Amino acid sequence: MSALHGNIAHTAKDEQCIECDSTDVEWASLNLGVFLCEKCSGRHRALGTHVSQVRSLWLDSKAWTPDVIQVMGCKGNQLAKQYYEAKVPTFVVKPPEDQGPMVMEKWLILKYQRKLFVDHDSNHIYNTSKNDQSKEEKTNVTSVQTSSSKMQKKKKKKL
Ligand SMILES: [Zn+2]
Repeated sequence: MSALHGNIAHTAKDEQCIECDSTDVEWASLNLGVFLCEKCSGRHRALGTHVSQVRSLWLDSKAWTPDVIQVMGCKGNQLAKQYYEAKVPTFVVKPPEDQGPMVMEKWLILKYQRKLFVDHDSNHIYNTSKNDQSKEEKTNVTSVQTSSSKMQKKKKKKL
């Protein structure tokens, strides 16, 4: 284990699992930048690597490149929670631990895959792709406008 890798593992000791608040943090999701306990790492793995890339803090030393360590080092569960749970509606309740895997999986999909509770307008550190997203939205709007003006032209021709 490299010294830097050890630093991350050390940082994680002060973390609580982002999903269940367990203090037994042994895993991390590299792409989401969150620390996880053993049980919740299994839940994240079940979502697929396109949603969450789960690695052991101690075992997967190849995954812990300097870049990854730097990114993970400036994130952490408190920041991640602020981001992924920024706008949880009052009628959505985070499922309690005893609700079973299906309910928990649905919650995780809404939270990480669909990013339903993220405030995309905030200047949160996680909102790095904000500019790309707004570009996409603009192109979508333009294409909608073009197609609607085409429709209007067609209508005019008919008249
Ligand atoms: Zn957990």
